Amino acid sequence: MSDLEMQLLLSSNEVDDAFGSVAPAIHQSSLFTFPTYDALEERFSGKSEADIYSRTSNPTVRLLEDKLAKLERGDAAIAFGSGMAAISGAVLSLVKAGDRIVSTFNTYSDAYRLFEILMARLGVSVTYVDCNDIDELSNALVGARLLFLESPSSYVFETCDIKKATDVAKQHGVITIFDNSFASPLGQKPLLHGADIVVHSISKYLSGHSDVVAGCVVGSHDLINQIRDTALPLLGAKLSAMEAWLVIRGLRTLPMRLREHQEAADFVVGKLKDDSRIAKIHRAMPSSTLSGAGGLFTVELADGLDVRAFCDALKVFRLGVSWGGFESLALPASVAARIDSGPNALQKFGVSRNAIRLFTGLEGREVLLADICQALTAAESMEKSR
Ligand SMILES: *Cc1c(COP(=O)(O)O)cnc(C)c1O
Repeated sequence: MSDLEMQLLLSSNEVDDAFGSVAPAIHQSSLFTFPTYDALEERFSGKSEADIYSRTSNPTVRLLEDKLAKLERGDAAIAFGSGMAAISGAVLSLVKAGDRIVSTFNTYSDAYRLFEILMARLGVSVTYVDCNDIDELSNALVGARLLFLESPSSYVFETCDIKKATDVAKQHGVITIFDNSFASPLGQKPLLHGADIVVHSISKYLSGHSDVVAGCVVGSHDLINQIRDTALPLLGAKLSAMEAWLVIRGLRTLPMRLREHQEAADFVVGKLKDDSRIAKIHRAMPSSTLSGAGGLFTVELADGLDVRAFCDALKVFRLGVSWGGFESLALPASVAARIDSGPNALQKFGVSRNAIRLFTGLEGREVLLADICQALTAAESMEKSR
């Protein structure tokens, strides 16, 4: 897909440009009516594809789904009410009691809790592996139903060799679900490297304005239909037309937003990497499948610097979870670990108590660097005054 084709895809408005409107219509309707008995019957017997009810399909949501499917190079997509609805919808549609899931050990915390709490209750077991240890992965995949991957991981940004891992899964006849929220479809396209299903938290880069919680799954017609038939009518985890519209708006600026997030992070990391007040910086390593590290990186303050004083001194960076919107954000690992995955969360993150994950927003790279530098000074003087 050329840059021109992508820009046309991101800004297209196929559904209803009858009036020449540049923004799509929001079909804020719970149900859709039929002119005659025969038209209604044709639809219910599957001979036509008109929308019936917005829990399962809606024209505005479908416009978003078409864009997402094409961006990820899948046949079809389903938009959900959150990233977790997409993950749980995909998993619950494809497993039954007695099945086993193999998952990378460093998943998003609520995906981990889905496996530990809900899957366990339903009689589905989960084996955690280091997905780059191909022998361990291969052994774990014997008799498994699903492989769940996420790469890069969202604290220290470990990456997984998608091609190698999905090759092994294919040898064992196991379906791979890949959480691509970190990279977005512009940074990485797992379906092109062997994954069967891609899931996203749209709440991050794809929506891009910190005003929507949404998710999606993308894959082949066959798998997406299986998920659609279960997750939408029976679990009811739909996305609303209004929120789909906000995401469509956000998609128009996705390439330029991502470029600025990444360049701002490059700039800030470049300036901070030799600062003696910072012990370590973690950032995703671009690879043959991952084109860039985006706006996320984690700093570990040097011994003695006060994490609390650093966080409280930040003015532009705000303290909070998530990422991908306008605002720069900071999340101290010591606090994140409290709501995260159990007693070994920090160890699982692979960072010390002095780690803070930073996200560079769109406020301007010089402003962001200055904010971090003044907060480092505050964290240092707190130490000296003790
Ligand atoms: C945020 C996130 C999720 C969950 O998505 P929600 O939209 O918050 O439900 C899942 N996976 C990753 C990697 C995430 O960053």
